[in-house]
Amino acid sequence: RCGFLRRPGLHVVHIASEMAPLAKVGGLADVVVSLAKAHQAAGTLAEIILPKYDCIRYADVAELRQLVQLEVPWGGSTIKTVVWAGIAEGLPVYFVEPYSRERFFWRGRFYGEVDDAERFLFFARAALEFLVWEEETQGKQPDALHIHDWQSAAVAPLLKEQYRARGLTRPGVVLTIHNIAFQGWLTPNYLDLMGLPRAGAYTPERLLDDTRPGFAAAQPDINLLKGGIVYADAVTTVSPTYAREVFAPEFGMGLQGVLGRHAGKFRGILNGIDPDMWDPATDAALPAHYTAADTAGKAVCKAALLAELGLPAKPNTPLIAVVSRLTEQKGLPLILHGLRVAQQAGAQFCVLGSAPESAVQQGFERWAAELAGGTAGRLVLRYDEALAHRIYAGADAILIPSFFEPCGLTQLIALRYGTIPVCRQTGGLADTVRDVAHSGAPEHERNGFTFAGKSEADVETVLRRAIDAYRDAGEWWHGQLVPRAMRQDWSWSRSAQDYLQLYRHLKQG
Ligand code: ADP
Repeated sequence: RCGFLRRPGLHVVHIASEMAPLAKVGGLADVVVSLAKAHQAAGTLAEIILPKYDCIRYADVAELRQLVQLEVPWGGSTIKTVVWAGIAEGLPVYFVEPYSRERFFWRGRFYGEVDDAERFLFFARAALEFLVWEEETQGKQPDALHIHDWQSAAVAPLLKEQYRARGLTRPGVVLTIHNIAFQGWLTPNYLDLMGLPRAGAYTPERLLDDTRPGFAAAQPDINLLKGGIVYADAVTTVSPTYAREVFAPEFGMGLQGVLGRHAGKFRGILNGIDPDMWDPATDAALPAHYTAADTAGKAVCKAALLAELGLPAKPNTPLIAVVSRLTEQKGLPLILHGLRVAQQAGAQFCVLGSAPESAVQQGFERWAAELAGGTAGRLVLRYDEALAHRIYAGADAILIPSFFEPCGLTQLIALRYGTIPVCRQTGGLADTVRDVAHSGAPEHERNGFTFAGKSEADVETVLRRAIDAYRDAGEWWHGQLVPRAMRQDWSWSRSAQDYLQLYRHLKQG
């Protein structure tokens, strides 16, 4: 570790609630790891602080060891917290394990607990205590703290209001908003647990959520994501289009005014994917490999996937996939309608997804039972990383009709596997997918089928266009469109540089 101290260049610490594949709920997990890896490859020291969830497979963490035991201040007392160190995905990772009465991270799952806001508020505070310990014992301080979504947003106000005075004078803070729909609400008494003075922090300019008119006084009105936006030195979101969209109430979800006031430090930087983790030429989950120059293996992957799902192989029939959390955001009614259209049109489909809402999950389970044994499609209603890889490789198209999509990784992964996105033009989808018929875009950029509206008719039209193209122009689809999609570069090559510039700017500022 001493070697790190002498290492020139930047030092960035990600404080995050997810990292792939150890603790993954959605795209945030992929982004934290792939961005940190891209920076590490460029000579930056990139580390990650993560909660020590009980539901992580620690066998996948190398050199895991207890590093230090801290007493983290909490509500007039302290909570014993052990910080573990290890290596995951080649990156130094620190795991924060509180021995709290509430068993904060021993819940058998990452999110969805009634006290989520409190759990992650504690995490933010413990992460900063750990950084103070590192500074005091090793003189080690990062240049930048990169925090992600509401779960670690509290780091920004805590750093500025408290931990600067505790010696963390060096780091600037970058907050990345992966999804503005989740904001982290708490009642004002949590300011005391945070150790923040009410007079300073409980104002509409700071953490008080004044954006929800009629919000009863007894309900939570501390907004952690808002606090992160106000106090961070730079705020990013994950695509240029979403960075514009969030100023509209429909997308900003109450925070459009705050973002407007802080627009000068806010910008969109497009996410990338990890080209090693997602590579059809080497992917260990696949039955065959392929490249843009030789796509023959893709047909083998498709045949194997159909067999795995128990679907018959039909000539000249596209397999349309959905890989998604099954939530309103993802355009649930349009997913359902789209799949029915695919069925009527004689295409096949497969869904890999799970719904956090049990009523939605049960609805899908009923439909899965109806489909079982038939030839139209399959629904696999669980989280399954390896199957996701096989679907990206084996499917012909992927349906993404999201109502909003900050960036979206599934279209980027699908493109790398030569699976053609059929998607709504919103957020990052609009920045990455060009319709094959888009006359204003150069041909090498045209990589999918897009639509703008929100109606069933809109998704029907676009899907029928895609299915017809597959059937009537198979040579073009397989011979031109698939290799073209695969050749596009959606790695971090550009965006990692943008983040480095941001960190450097903070260092100077
Ligand atoms: P979000 O973060 O909103 O869920 P993204 O498109 O940014 O959406 O990222 C989703 C990530 O989660 C992708 O890596 C996708 O492959 C993965 N994913 C989603 N659902 C599942 C599932 N049921 N099983 C495996 N991976 C999934």
